[in-house]
Amino acid sequence: MPNIFADVLIIGAGPAGLFTAINIEAKNRQIIILEKNQCAGKKLLLTGNGKCNITNSAAISDFFDYYNHKARKFIRKALFNFDNIALQNFFRNYDIEFYADADNRIIPKNANAEKIRNILIDCCKAKNIKIHYDEPANKIEIITQNAKKKFCVYTDKNIYFADKLVLSTGGCSYPQTGSTGDGYKFAEALGHAIITPKPALSQIFIKDFQLSDIAGSSLKTARLIFFRASKKIAELTGEILITHKGLSGIPVINISREISSGDTIIISFIDNQQLKFTNNFKQLLHTNQKKSLKSILKKFELSERLIEKMLALASIKTDILVYQISKEEKERLLKTLTHFEMTVLSSGDFNTAMITAGGIALNEINPATMESLIIPNLYFAGEILDIDGFSGGFNLQAAFSTAKLAASNI
Ligand SMILES: Cc1cc2nc3c(=O)[nH]c(=O)nc-3n(C[C@H](O)[C@H](O)[C@H](O)COP(=O)(O)OP(=O)(O)OC[C@H]3O[C@@H](n4cnc5c(N)ncnc54)[C@H](O)[C@@H]3O)c2cc1C
Repeated sequence: MPNIFADVLIIGAGPAGLFTAINIEAKNRQIIILEKNQCAGKKLLLTGNGKCNITNSAAISDFFDYYNHKARKFIRKALFNFDNIALQNFFRNYDIEFYADADNRIIPKNANAEKIRNILIDCCKAKNIKIHYDEPANKIEIITQNAKKKFCVYTDKNIYFADKLVLSTGGCSYPQTGSTGDGYKFAEALGHAIITPKPALSQIFIKDFQLSDIAGSSLKTARLIFFRASKKIAELTGEILITHKGLSGIPVINISREISSGDTIIISFIDNQQLKFTNNFKQLLHTNQKKSLKSILKKFELSERLIEKMLALASIKTDILVYQISKEEKERLLKTLTHFEMTVLSSGDFNTAMITAGGIALNEINPATMESLIIPNLYFAGEILDIDGFSGGFNLQAAFSTAKLAASNI
């Protein structure tokens, strides 16, 4: 099998691997990226539904609360070294402009995820960085050559010898994009501890879901309270999306990692200020006896589909007039609107969760360099690390910032 020599070998051409390569000072060094897919950044193409929510508009000093506890201290140096402004400025050099949406997500104005990915690939070409596609790394060994330790990486086509190695193979969510957890096995074989990977950021699937026929509806100010064995474990408000099999939307996605099968959800569809709603609703019924119940419900910004579904669930005729409603029906409707109970079937698995929580244990990596504290010249960048952020651009920012820091130190 041919032997190929590299100064720096990077495994994985996602945003972390590509950005590491681009930022390494070239100094006539041979930099090679191995990528198992036939193209780079397959997952990057999916980000923000193809629009690429690249970072967040929050002040960088406020970013830390949006990562898992263990990562908050670890990621400080990487984020301050290359923050959300620096990331946008990097792409501004390639004529990309950005805007912040209502949820503070930073999104390219005049580009999409594909354009962002292509800029990264073009930068690699411009720096003569070789990307070897369709060539997954299978095994890594450390060998001694001329009294110097080298990484020896085996693929089906070649054997690579490298002075420095970067693992940027991502996590194991969305395995169809190439992120199948290979990096964890390589790191473990080299002596690194792995925090058990778990799916995070997904929709929540509901047992015997009764709202699938209104899938696509959104609830602007719903309130969800989660219980486990009758103990409240979480609460959220915000825009919730009804899917075919359960609930989604940013607040749901962010909380999904804390939710387990069998948890109970009490949902208020209508208003997070429930008491205020109940009083308003009763008052409106009292003063509008001859109107249809539907017309009263519409005053609370509920869609026609949702109103009809709520009435059906409360076993009330859709064309009923206010004076025709019995006391029991009124109570039933109020309960359906503000105390609707659901049971969690599951939160998503790796096939549907956007990111992986867990990964390479951070206490064995130098946060100032991203270099292994166990094996010199071994670096990590991106989602392979035990860093997971909320939805909103925090994960791509972590990938770019850790990559930049690793590159500066290689
Ligand atoms: C649907 C979806 C939407 C998302 N939207 C957003 C968003 O809008 N904003 C945000 O911040 N984050 C988002 N994310 C998360 C974000 O995409 C990831 O955090 C980011 O891609 C991680 O970058 P990475 O380079 O570390 O890993 P990855 O992007 O997973 O790249 C790893 C690369 O390594 C390659 N690889 C793996 N094993 C091997 C091997 N043995 N040999 C060679 N190559 C290998 C893979 O093929 C892959 O190309 C989203 C994720 C998904 C799934």
